[in-house]
Amino acid sequence: MSEARPLIALVGNPNTGKTLLFNRLTGQNARVGNYPGVTVERRVATGKLPQAGAADFLDVPGTYSLSARSAEEQVAIRSLLGWGVPPPDLVVLVVDSTQLTRNLYLALQVRELGVPCVVALNMIDEVEGSPPDAASIGEALGLPCVAVSARTRHGLDELKLAIQRALGARPGPPPVLAWPPAVLSAIAQVQPLVSSLWQVEGPRAQALALWALTSLDEEDELDAIPPELRQAVLQARSGPEDLDQLIVGARYAWIDAQGALLSGVQGSRTLTDRVDAVLLHPVWGFAVFLVLMASLFQALFSWSDPFIGLIETLFENVSVGLAGLLPEGLVSDLLVEGVIGGVGNVVVFLPQILMLFLFIGVLEDSGYMARAAYLMDRIMKAVGLHGRAFVPMMSGFACAVPAIMATRTMERQRDRLLTMMVVPLMSCSARLPVYTLVIAALFPPSLFGDGLPVQGLMLTGMYLFSTVIALVAAAVLGRTALRGRKIPFVMELPPIRLPSMQSVLRLMWSRSRLFLVEAGTVILACTMALWVLLSFPRLPPPIDQSEAAAVAWQAEALEYSVAGRMGKAIEPAIAPLGFDWKIGVGLIGAFGAREVFVSTMGLVYGIGEDADEESLPLREKMRAERRPDGSPRYTPLVGLSLMVFIALAAQCMSTLAVLKRETGGYRWPAFLFVYMTTLAWVASLLVYQGGRLLGFQ
Ligand code: GDP
Ligand code: MG
Repeated sequence: MSEARPLIALVGNPNTGKTLLFNRLTGQNARVGNYPGVTVERRVATGKLPQAGAADFLDVPGTYSLSARSAEEQVAIRSLLGWGVPPPDLVVLVVDSTQLTRNLYLALQVRELGVPCVVALNMIDEVEGSPPDAASIGEALGLPCVAVSARTRHGLDELKLAIQRALGARPGPPPVLAWPPAVLSAIAQVQPLVSSLWQVEGPRAQALALWALTSLDEEDELDAIPPELRQAVLQARSGPEDLDQLIVGARYAWIDAQGALLSGVQGSRTLTDRVDAVLLHPVWGFAVFLVLMASLFQALFSWSDPFIGLIETLFENVSVGLAGLLPEGLVSDLLVEGVIGGVGNVVVFLPQILMLFLFIGVLEDSGYMARAAYLMDRIMKAVGLHGRAFVPMMSGFACAVPAIMATRTMERQRDRLLTMMVVPLMSCSARLPVYTLVIAALFPPSLFGDGLPVQGLMLTGMYLFSTVIALVAAAVLGRTALRGRKIPFVMELPPIRLPSMQSVLRLMWSRSRLFLVEAGTVILACTMALWVLLSFPRLPPPIDQSEAAAVAWQAEALEYSVAGRMGKAIEPAIAPLGFDWKIGVGLIGAFGAREVFVSTMGLVYGIGEDADEESLPLREKMRAERRPDGSPRYTPLVGLSLMVFIALAAQCMSTLAVLKRETGGYRWPAFLFVYMTTLAWVASLLVYQGGRLLGFQ
């Protein structure tokens, strides 16, 4: 071994407790970065071994087998084999003791590859009845094997000792499996090529040949695979037999033959089974789902209200205080309206974002999310989306940026792309302030006494509208621009568990930080840029000091500014949608970030410049605004058209920036921008012109 710290990779199926074990072994001082070339998080931290001193631990993404295809699963394979990354000195294979049969499949694959390995039989605290016999399982696999519980810290010292002993020791020969003749002849066709390409021999060459046979096909999306190898695999697979099934079958036959070891080991699954009878029930399951989603929305829109109010008050006070301290002028304006206003625009979203990720974190960590995805799978599949698209779509209600990152768990690039192309249609929290403003300004609270709560229904309607459009868009794009073969969705249902608060909080924080960094910087920059566009070129201040003259001056100054001129320039294009140039200014601002729309309209109508004008909130100004013919500028029809536009247009620089990073180019962000914005324009046109034909104003 070299002088450097040994690298120890924690590998295992998803949800086996790798991350918790990683934190226990290292004390959570993880250094987080990305794997080279892909956007999958790489977490490394240093931990102490009893005698060998420090070692680096790597928390590898979960995978069920090594014949895997998603970006995260590819990373797992690479980390294990050391392709393009430093090879680990030792693998700690984390196994869920309550799911031994399935977990041993990966253990067997690792074993075939001859990677130095220690098996950690985790979750031993959840095993009911006789615990698994670590020594005999270890003997069967030919690997050291330790029973641990990352939760209760049982067996951690023993695990560290086993790791220490295994470092540097060479593993013995792998277990002998009875491969059927068809598999043996396929191996014989591929193995020589594998040997010469990767310079390996013996059992490892055979294991890599098996890996290639089960992983490569026309659409595997694995990069850095020599084309001649893929050709050889396709050739070897062209026979009448189903090689995948034969190979998987032979491995499970070996595992089943160890039956004596596995029998008697039973997880506390009876609870999960009983709960699942309800959660997965076609009627009750949906009822629970609806109740949970309703509470989620309740949490998002009313529980976070007081916090939002608090933040708004705080930023207002800072603005007023700062404005009082600084001499009047450009610098003061820039700081107060541009910088403080911009930061406020970002921070005001935090309560909702935190609340959403708290909810999603609890649902994920408890195992419910997988069940919701299972329930939704039929609907998702009907529109051509992958079952795993459900969580990103849900996250899209808070913010498309972390939602797009959440698509990384999907196996195929095509499924990921399709999800990324429709997630921005989900009604993110940045649209909410626009909806609230328009609805409050232009629609009555209720009709027929209290019989018809118009405002609440309008808001719910906008959310339903965006969800339906997102699903329709998925169906259309999945049959046109992103056509692809459907692959079956094998769903893994993790056991129902009490969520670990630590994991939930960590998840909540990491996703919120993502939002703050990715969206925050863009929103701040846009607010400041808009302030400049709205403020220059400047008109000389009015000579007349009267109130009326000041208001008239403000209107002229706006028309004179760059933003005002831009609004005028696009007016012909948006007039058919019912918008004038002032709305145009707001829409231009909103192309940076939607939430900027409301503050821009505030600037356009001169709100918040003057303390005593606060009595005239923006919605009053909007109601008072007239067209040249004296009729109200903003009618309910104009409001509806405006909301539809905001719901559908690709008005978010952060989303486009993240898309560019995740897809590695400008093609998909450009596509998203063009299709969504065209859709928005056409839909608003239909709403406004259709409404006028029906006699609305
Ligand atoms: P990963 O996907 O392999 O990284 O798994 P996590 O570390 O995220 O753990 C998945 C879930 O299992 C979390 O809710 C953990 O709190 C829980 N968990 C992890 N280790 C244990 C354990 O030893 N016993 C029990 N009962 N739960 C555990
Ligand atoms: Mg993990």
